[in-house]
Amino acid sequence: MGRLDGQTALVTGGGRGIGRAIVKKLASEGANVVINYGTSDRAAKETADLCRKEYGVKTLAVQADVSRAEDVQRLFEEAKALTGKVEILVNNAGITADNLILRMTDEDFDRVQKINLYGTFYGMKLAAKTMLRQRYGRIISLSSVVGLHGNAGQVNYAASKAGIVGMTKSLAKEMASRGVTVNAVAPGMIETDMTAAMTETAHKAMEGQIPAGRMGSPEDIAEAVAFFADPASGYVTGQVLAVDGGMAL
Ligand code: NAP
Repeated sequence: MGRLDGQTALVTGGGRGIGRAIVKKLASEGANVVINYGTSDRAAKETADLCRKEYGVKTLAVQADVSRAEDVQRLFEEAKALTGKVEILVNNAGITADNLILRMTDEDFDRVQKINLYGTFYGMKLAAKTMLRQRYGRIISLSSVVGLHGNAGQVNYAASKAGIVGMTKSLAKEMASRGVTVNAVAPGMIETDMTAAMTETAHKAMEGQIPAGRMGSPEDIAEAVAFFADPASGYVTGQVLAVDGGMAL
């Protein structure tokens, strides 16, 4: 018996990177998984196949651009068709568009807010509607150590990830009496495509700032998400858990 047996989890950007590790972890705990993807069609379908075969859960891969309200609406409708309910939402989809502020265009700023911040807002709103009716739910969003402490070259990304912290705490207060918890995970430097674009020198410099002495793995983040998703974590809400090897200390 898994701690999430029979529940349904919707993970945005769940086909690759941290999202994929979250999908696999929740499926390994017995949750049926709805895997949203933006463009990585094959990765999402492979992740779905793997979870079905390995963990025997129901799976569904759904294309939807989280920056478009109508796409997220359709995503929730399709997700609910799988089992009739959604107990867990993980707002994971996110992008970076780094530049120093003098070179950052309005377009770079907007694009990051539309996917990271609006995408999370749309997901939270639809999940809140479903979960209030169910009187049960777990909403977990991916913030970042950058949203808590800032980072040169990431004004747009930091704004979006700090915004997620504010939304998490506010929504936690709105939902606390209704059996719905709202929390965030703030990863440090995690080995995915998002960080693979860095030069070797930048990698080494960053690793030098991590007390744990290594970058994190997507599985490190999935463990923290699973903690918040657990029915036993019902008295934990409005929290932001840094999973960063001590980076933000
Ligand atoms: P990644 O490897 O670049 O993957 C990004 C994911 O977001 C992909 O699954 C992608 O799906 C999805 N996505 C992007 N735009 C989308 C859109 N418009 N609609 C739907 N899905 C979209 O990034 P990652 O490292 O796994 O990061 C996952 C989350 O953790 C992000 O929110 C990121 O900000 C956060 N985070 C990461 C780190 C890190 O060090 N890696 C640190 C702190 C926070 P498609 O490929 O299908 O478009």
